[in-house]
Amino acid sequence: MKIMKFGGTSVGKPERMHQVAQLITKDAEPKIVVLSALSGTTNSLVEISNHLAKSDREAARQSIDKLEAHYRSFVLLLASGTEAQAKANAIVSEHFEFLNIILRISFSDALYKDILAQGELLSTKLFCVFLEEQGIDHQLLPALDFMSIDANGEPHVEAIRAKLTPILAQYASKKLFITQGYICKNARGEVDNLKRGGSDYTASLVAAAVNATVCEIWTDIDGMHNNDPRIVEKTNAIEQLSFDEAAELAYFGAKILHPTCIWPAQQENVPVKLLNTMQPEAVGTVITKEAGSVGIKAVAAKDGIIAIKIKSSRMLLAYGFLRKVFEVFEKYKTSIDMITTSEVAVSVTIDSAEFLKEIVQELEPFGHVEVETNQSIVSIVGNEIAKTESVLQKLFIAINEIPVTMVSYGGSHHNISLLVPNEYRTKTLQLLNSGLFGL
Ligand code: ADP
Ligand code: ASP
Ligand code: MG
Repeated sequence: MKIMKFGGTSVGKPERMHQVAQLITKDAEPKIVVLSALSGTTNSLVEISNHLAKSDREAARQSIDKLEAHYRSFVLLLASGTEAQAKANAIVSEHFEFLNIILRISFSDALYKDILAQGELLSTKLFCVFLEEQGIDHQLLPALDFMSIDANGEPHVEAIRAKLTPILAQYASKKLFITQGYICKNARGEVDNLKRGGSDYTASLVAAAVNATVCEIWTDIDGMHNNDPRIVEKTNAIEQLSFDEAAELAYFGAKILHPTCIWPAQQENVPVKLLNTMQPEAVGTVITKEAGSVGIKAVAAKDGIIAIKIKSSRMLLAYGFLRKVFEVFEKYKTSIDMITTSEVAVSVTIDSAEFLKEIVQELEPFGHVEVETNQSIVSIVGNEIAKTESVLQKLFIAINEIPVTMVSYGGSHHNISLLVPNEYRTKTLQLLNSGLFGL
């Protein structure tokens, strides 16, 4: 069994969906195909929800109408026969009827998650109409029947496997399954999701749950690049990465992968391939257990970082000080990305301001607390970076003009992280592209 996940752009136009149908029928291996919402849909659903949260029903209605018009014209080119078109239109009507009903009920977090789920529900059902019209045998598997998260919002491979295995056994004669990325049920049994970009996470979790031969992530670029192609002009695709390297890049801002989507595939040792729907013959990137080569492979940047420094003369002799500091972050379920310490101070970074006020209040009894918002982490990733000749020298020469506020090196064998004020993020990535990769 193999998993093939197609992102928003890969299904965003009728002709792309036609191409996806070709890609998934190229070989006879049984498959679970995971689809995202059509590109732009989840953003529109967020926009609709924001209007509703502010009780601006008129603005919400306008956004809903605009989105519906987009789907009506999509359907016109997706299916050619009148019967398939009628089926596709009925699906669109059903989901937009739901969106129009919610205009009249009071907004809540649970409703917000229901709204966000419409995108993947629509894309998969419409795709199945096309497959049916083409006479391609398949089975739609509702992700809400087997994808789940616990009370902390975390998915578990075992829980997904326990639900998915009997469902697949029910369709023993089927070779092609279609399911929704991103959406799941939470511990309260409500519709929820795996956060933005979460379809990659669905693919990796399902791949781990069924012990797939491979988890293919089909997107709009030919694999993981050595630098952020949205920011830097000359970037190259990387042919091979280890799970550890890919996980660091995803977590530290390489948008091609959801931040935490690597661990399930890594846990079950399922190779992950990053492939380009628009250029299927390109080699892409293969992610496996082994790193392949030693040295710097890529850099990535993560924005919206907050640095917190706690200065305390008492820290000098006080064992247990760090534990007390970390307990505050644990209490507010806020994870720390970078950390540096000296005799009298400890600095950490977090990527969420949700509980910043509370955290700072609870840290204040330990010493003087300073907060810097609007920072970016720039991560340099590669296997056994420390063994790469004069790596630090090259790095710091390259970014000589950047006011680096924190450095983290040695925490893992494959990452050096720098904290820079956000306004220097682009320049840092550009300088590293020439200084480290000669591009
Ligand atoms: P999908 O909709 O298929 O999930 P995404 O937009 O989530 O696609 O991810 C693909 C995009 O990620 C690319 O178009 C590219 O702009 C961006 N990206 C950011 N960093 C990298 C990187 N290091 N390598 C490749 N793509 C990257
Ligand atoms: N549709 C969701 C999003 O836009 C999930 C995904 O595309 O991976 O975030
Ligand atoms: Mg994505």
